[in-house]
Amino acid sequence: MLAYIGLGSNLENPRAQVELAFTELAALPDCELVARSALYGSTAVGPGEQPDYVNAAALLQTELTPLALLDALQAIEQSHRRVRIEHWGPRTLDLDILLLDQQTIESERLKVPHPYLTQRNFVLYPLADIAPELHLPDGRNLQELIALCPRDGLARLE
Ligand code: AMP
Repeated sequence: MLAYIGLGSNLENPRAQVELAFTELAALPDCELVARSALYGSTAVGPGEQPDYVNAAALLQTELTPLALLDALQAIEQSHRRVRIEHWGPRTLDLDILLLDQQTIESERLKVPHPYLTQRNFVLYPLADIAPELHLPDGRNLQELIALCPRDGLARLE
């Protein structure tokens, strides 16, 4: 199964959090890190003032089931001492399953494609680094979604 993962952090040296997460993704059992995007800096979405995000995307080839993959990602988040003060609030590391092949999953714990995938520039632009030809189970392709989603404050980091 090909798994597209979104990474985000806006606390405690976000760049280092995301770089470490790439290493941890590569080390997961029954997973191979096939590609990783550049790092992007983006302005936080949500209530109040919070630090800017660093975002990225990864492509994993995995033999894990979808829920086993979610468990593994949540274990990595926990190991980064993720702060969950409020929904949408700051976090040391957020890992989202964006797409799993062409599967559609609508369960309590896991929704794939990720519900915000199509609307967030900080998801779409990193994804385009690793899979420019990508299309969704509903037939929409990444390039048309990007055309509808302004880059705004999103900057590719050196
Ligand atoms: P968040 O605070 O946005 O990271 O949401 C975490 C919760 O979203 C967890 O309880 C997951 O079970 C749930 N969830 C649903 N769909 C997904 C997905 N595609 N990737 C990651 N978490 C998901």
